[in-house]
Amino acid sequence: MPESTSSPAPHVAVVLLAGGQGARAGFDRPKQLEMLGAKSVLRWSLDLFAAHPAVTAGVVVANPDVMATIGMLPEGWISASPGAERQQSVANALTALTDWDDDARLLVHDAARPGVTADVVDRLLAALDGADAAIPTLPVPDTLVAQTQAQVGDVVDRSLLARVQTPQAFRLGTLRRAHAEAGDAAATDDAQLVRRMGLPVAAVSGDARLHKLTYAEDLAILSALLGVGTAMRTAVGMGYDVHRLVVGKPLWIGGIEIAHSHGLEGHSDADVALHAITDAVLGALADGDIGDHFPPTDPQWRGAASHRFLSFAGDRVTARGGRISHIDVTIVAEAPRIGPHRPAIRARIADILAIPPECVSVKATTTERLGFTGRREGIAAQAIATLLLPEI
Ligand code: MG
Repeated sequence: MPESTSSPAPHVAVVLLAGGQGARAGFDRPKQLEMLGAKSVLRWSLDLFAAHPAVTAGVVVANPDVMATIGMLPEGWISASPGAERQQSVANALTALTDWDDDARLLVHDAARPGVTADVVDRLLAALDGADAAIPTLPVPDTLVAQTQAQVGDVVDRSLLARVQTPQAFRLGTLRRAHAEAGDAAATDDAQLVRRMGLPVAAVSGDARLHKLTYAEDLAILSALLGVGTAMRTAVGMGYDVHRLVVGKPLWIGGIEIAHSHGLEGHSDADVALHAITDAVLGALADGDIGDHFPPTDPQWRGAASHRFLSFAGDRVTARGGRISHIDVTIVAEAPRIGPHRPAIRARIADILAIPPECVSVKATTTERLGFTGRREGIAAQAIATLLLPEI
């Protein structure tokens, strides 16, 4: 929580805006959670700010699902809910900082710019000594022209123009007044609100590394700018599971229920195929096994639907910046016949892992009436998961 007014005001706080959903850019998750090397886009700037000696606290403005993914916040940091628009998100952060003094300094940053440097932060803070607000800008290197549809018009004097980046620095009191006076009038950044009050905004040199992640191809540009490798390694894991067939239980295999005289016995729904695949994915991650993450001694997993275990394993892959290339599972059963259910099982596994069905193979075999599977005492499953993970 913020310091109370009885304590000295923290010197510099950060508002880190991570409320976007990234839908426009065509990412399949919020773009601030895309991985750059071993950490998320959001974590890059969060770690830089947290390590900066002048910064003592911050507010991450993000939805609960984003907050759950990024892990522990640094000491002194809190979270706030995003608004429908950027301006409302900043306002929510200002509300979270109610106890702070007006003379505190604030850095407002878009998490979609992971390449913050300590030098930019230092330049901004130095500029605040003589100004109420300061922003990083870059010159415009290209020739600029006016254009109407496909018709090129006059050249625009680019010496009069600059590209605006974040973080943007403010006296906290100035930004509070700017937001209060703006009311419902929208602006694309906070510096414009300050200028509307007639206050000057200082410009400092920006940094090419503050490139904004807008489209998927920006990830490659940012990887180069930040010196992060994009090389991936292949990791393969295997899983094996057996459950006993008993009378009076439903039969769940591969995430679907199959009508049969017997069902599988176990602590959860005993879905032998999903258990084998879960262990295969965890094996490729070298991340223990299903029993480590979902102990059979824990009553909360009694009767649990096993798709939860598999989607958990899939999320662990995503959190590492990896993806699942392929799943191959073999179900070993004398009865029932699995063949007719293979398309449904395949589609269900693909759905749980959010991968294309073309990346899922489902096979079935009997053991020619030999052994426990042959005697219909139980069903076994073997799986192999192939992952792509960031190079260590
Ligand atoms: Mg099992």
